Amino acid sequence: MVPEPHEAKHWEKLADNKVRCLLCPRRCEVADRERGTCGVRENRGGEYRTLVWGRVCSENIDPIEKKPLFHYRPGTDAYSLAAPGCNIECLFCQNWEISQFRPEQIETWERSPADVASLCAERAIPTIALTYSEPVVWWEYGRDIAVAAKERGVGTVVVSNGYIEEQPLHEWCDVVSAIKIDFKAFTQRFYRDTCSGDLGPVLDTLGRIKDAGVWLELVMLVVPTLNDDEAEVRAMAKWINQRLGPDVPIHFTRFHPMYKLTNLEPTPVDTLEKCRDIALAEGLHFVYLGNVPRHPGENTYCPRSGEILIERAGYTILENRIVGGKCPCCDQSVPGVW
Ligand code: SF4
Repeated sequence: MVPEPHEAKHWEKLADNKVRCLLCPRRCEVADRERGTCGVRENRGGEYRTLVWGRVCSENIDPIEKKPLFHYRPGTDAYSLAAPGCNIECLFCQNWEISQFRPEQIETWERSPADVASLCAERAIPTIALTYSEPVVWWEYGRDIAVAAKERGVGTVVVSNGYIEEQPLHEWCDVVSAIKIDFKAFTQRFYRDTCSGDLGPVLDTLGRIKDAGVWLELVMLVVPTLNDDEAEVRAMAKWINQRLGPDVPIHFTRFHPMYKLTNLEPTPVDTLEKCRDIALAEGLHFVYLGNVPRHPGENTYCPRSGEILIERAGYTILENRIVGGKCPCCDQSVPGVW
């Protein structure tokens, strides 16, 4: 059954009852009774509608470290939810069962933004995470959740591919507390061939989030032979340092064979360590390894004293020594939302 449509934002009318979606850089031109590429936004008689407002397909209470956000309220929980859909197709997608199907093809259930926000406020869950699929394509629902959450003193974080137009991004930045972007690679080749996306708009998004002052962390899933070239990783680290600054954390995470990319082996740990070494050598202060539990690269180190500030084992905080946002040894400020 096709879910009930809800008014969509960020689109314009065209001739012949067509519309143009202005939510993501695809800018789909959609004829009457057709949908955009993401399959969750439909033209109904010249009016654009979202089919996934208030429709959840996955929800869990996760540690915030699982997003991963390492400099945002460490050791706390995030009520994490998704509606169906995505605007790109990564061949290694871990959540393809909900991201790559139309809403009527998968099970969904109702959750109004007020219900989600009230549930978190009542259970003292400090954060809601818009995650698992791609929150860009269920923008209206996510925005309404963030507004309802803010009214109740609950924060909202977004986990996204960053493939979004400037105006809806600005409106996100007004109501959310942190954003984690999956920075797939530093080449258009990888974005085009492995993700059906574009690098340029993602770079624009990263700069805009930084300029808006919203807490930002990056994840790069390192896929053997496809985006693990050392020169490319160095160029990416240089760009991050120059455009975003050295304090934006980056997590290099381990790939496991998945979805349409099952012919490759998991990322060797020494490849991830090389990526980390390169990023540190380029001056980035907070460089993490992901999907390698108990690796020292899970910890947060003070960029000045070198002391361990937050010790982790997987998603568990073993010890948090940050005091008042500072290193207890040298008083160095540690950026983040503590
Ligand atoms: S959000 Fe969906 S409909 Fe809109 S431009 Fe992007 S892919 Fe097309």
